[in-house]
Amino acid sequence: MQLFMATLATETNTFSPLPTGRTAFMEREFFRDDGSRHPPRLGNIPLIEWRRMGEADGHDVAESISTFAQPAGTTLRAVYEELRDMLLADLRAAMPVDVVLLFMHGAMVADGYDDCEGDTLARVREIVGPEATIGIELDLHCHLTEGMRRNANVIITFKEYPHTDVAERARELYATCLAAARGETKPVIAYHDLRMVSMWRTTVEPMLSFVRKMKDLEGKDGILSVSFGHGFPWGDVPEVGGKIVVVADNDMTKAQSLARALGEEIWTLRRETATHHDTVDEGIDAAMKGSGDKPLVLADVADNAGGGAPSDNTAILRRLVDRGARDVATGCYWDPVAVQICLEAGIGATFDLRIGGKCGVASGDPVDLRVTVRGLDAHHTQGGLSGGRAEMGPSAYVEADGIHIILNSIRQQTFRPDAFTGLGCSLSDKRLVVVKSTQHFYAGFAPVAREVRYCATPNGAITPDYENIPFTKKTTPYWPKVEDPWAGTNTF
Ligand SMILES: [Zn+2]
Repeated sequence: MQLFMATLATETNTFSPLPTGRTAFMEREFFRDDGSRHPPRLGNIPLIEWRRMGEADGHDVAESISTFAQPAGTTLRAVYEELRDMLLADLRAAMPVDVVLLFMHGAMVADGYDDCEGDTLARVREIVGPEATIGIELDLHCHLTEGMRRNANVIITFKEYPHTDVAERARELYATCLAAARGETKPVIAYHDLRMVSMWRTTVEPMLSFVRKMKDLEGKDGILSVSFGHGFPWGDVPEVGGKIVVVADNDMTKAQSLARALGEEIWTLRRETATHHDTVDEGIDAAMKGSGDKPLVLADVADNAGGGAPSDNTAILRRLVDRGARDVATGCYWDPVAVQICLEAGIGATFDLRIGGKCGVASGDPVDLRVTVRGLDAHHTQGGLSGGRAEMGPSAYVEADGIHIILNSIRQQTFRPDAFTGLGCSLSDKRLVVVKSTQHFYAGFAPVAREVRYCATPNGAITPDYENIPFTKKTTPYWPKVEDPWAGTNTF
């Protein structure tokens, strides 16, 4: 069979002040025709799996672009259209194609396109025709749209948050699509809209068991795949919100009733699964009270670059300085100007440095500190998702009176402890480590933490204040904006 594969992905925070332009794709992670032959980063992880499996099965594998832009604001129209048209041109050149495998984020918004994935899928379908099998792998922070459902045969989202299962889901998509292409199954896709806007952490109960349950349902009784698309709350699009996806073998009624039953479970667990967020002072208090040889890790969830935030918000840093906190590490602040000054000054230099607060209201005010440069790296990296490396660019480690700060030049959330330790900043001797991340930090930091807590800085670009996100396009009611979004309907 002839297979075709590509990655075109970003997660769009339509409320972010940072535009997503050409360099966001081209300079971060861009390959054409050969992404699967490079070491794993993020966007190419599924392509590596699909090429390996496709070739092992004796299929021809045609490959197009592989690009994944760091989440930020709305993508420029011309940039989305250029990348999409590259993908479509490569697809036309590869025709006739039996199976299309795409990795897209699922929450990409461009000027004029609320649903980039649905738009791409519709154009792919037009080229390959109704008989070809189209499968798409999505981040679970996606807007599951009717445009996707209409044009894909199989939709599978990640199950884990942190996203540790990118490769596993890619293998599942391959197997499900190939079985359909061989005529062994006829996949149908059902959604159940949860009418909820929230976030769910799968590393703790009860979501840990829910993920296990989804997996247990698959591969038997005509159920091919089960996904829980958590949704991405900071996208001002009509179809924003959590949805269950069930792919069943030629039985829409079965798919719908399972999707609904699983949706009811998520609804019932809504209070249990909601994350508690400390105020800044509560988070610092908890760290300073504790003892032991491991730090408390406090996540600055509202300034997570991975959700499109600038990652230079200073609210927590300001409080740490004002309270005279010591033995604290915090990062990573996206501040290429500060990094440049540190690189110029060199290790050991002591001087006044202005940190953060540069991108707008969501950044807060800059903080002026007398710092000493403790570490420098012109090409700093940290462990990324699912085994890849994440580039931080030129980076600096500075200290100001017991506060240890990591500054980077490529905007990137804090994934792994080596974001700190790679520059010489040890963590085991700290009382508090503040990380700019919502949940991806968890897999790497939980083992080195005595406790993990979450904190929402005021004015952050992705503040988890779901009931007050200023949506303009969503027309259906949702929890927690209303207590019962199902009131007045005959369903739950
Ligand atoms: Zn995600």
